[in-house]
Amino acid sequence: MPHVLVTGGAGYIGSHACKVLRAAGYTPVTFDNLSTGWADAVKFGPLEQGDLNDRARLDDVFARYEPVAVMHFAAFSQVGEAMREPGKYWRNNVCGSLTLIEAAVAAGCLNFVFSSTCATYGDQDGVVLDENSQQMPLNAYGASKRAIEDILTDFEASHGLKSVIFRYFNVAGADPEAEVGEFHQPETHLIPLMLDAIEGKRPALTVFGTDYPTPDGTCIRDYVHVMDLVDAHVLGVKWLEDGKGSRVFNLGTGKGFSVREVIDQSRTVTNREVPYEIGPRRGGDAVQLVSGSTRAEAELGWKPKRSTMDAMIKDAWRWHQNGSYKG
Ligand code: UDP
Repeated sequence: MPHVLVTGGAGYIGSHACKVLRAAGYTPVTFDNLSTGWADAVKFGPLEQGDLNDRARLDDVFARYEPVAVMHFAAFSQVGEAMREPGKYWRNNVCGSLTLIEAAVAAGCLNFVFSSTCATYGDQDGVVLDENSQQMPLNAYGASKRAIEDILTDFEASHGLKSVIFRYFNVAGADPEAEVGEFHQPETHLIPLMLDAIEGKRPALTVFGTDYPTPDGTCIRDYVHVMDLVDAHVLGVKWLEDGKGSRVFNLGTGKGFSVREVIDQSRTVTNREVPYEIGPRRGGDAVQLVSGSTRAEAELGWKPKRSTMDAMIKDAWRWHQNGSYKG
């Protein structure tokens, strides 16, 4: 089976990507330094433990597996932390990606699927975003991802590297078979924090701001099921293998949910109270980030199958009650 090099394959989205790659007839080779990922999340192909800044290690892995494509997930991804420690985001995300891109080009692996983000857009007055919306990131996380997009563009011009860039909105849910799921230490994301609060694993969820210019005062996000998201990535590999060239795709559902709406839906799905309190705004948060996926549906043939809030919370809840990683 052809290999795909999956950086961050021990993390939340990367581990789900490995599962669907395997099902699609590829062998996913996880490259991960396990700084935020889990060795026992790597279930569908080999684990090559290593750091993206270690060029010799990358060269060795490219030479041994001769991957047909790279899927690059490995990155720091927390808005709050990016506001406190921007240098960490610029150094890790940009320098690590640059080393990876140089190694891929040197190995002749010119198909590159990149995990970018809606955080590259920033605030845009409540419009539904598309791929041509201006990119005005509000934090170092979004800015670092935009910089990597620019690097990919330059390496296409100089070395013929072809990239599919996915800008995703908020990823949620888990593998419905609960082989893999979302498990961050520390956790910072809304839905898993809320499920923790419901289970009494933490005292209460803090809602970050209720004075935003939205109908209920809380931020609005577009949530996409992780299984739908990784399906798009497999389509991205095929797109590149078919020689269709570089392209950017937003992955969203076109429907936004406020923090309060997510809380309400979780109460319904779990039939349990959601303990929460109101706190101040979190720096770096956009008011609203919502995107359609017209381009991904029309060109890639991507069809989200599980991205209802109900299914995302149900699948996250199932995993949350039964799954976790130890190491
Ligand atoms: N959020 C919140 N409390 C939390 C974590 C998140 O109110 O403890 C809000 C956050 O301000 C944002 C939304 O939930 O409006 C989604 O945040 P998350 O960190 O899950 O994803 P992000 O949008 O940063 O990618």
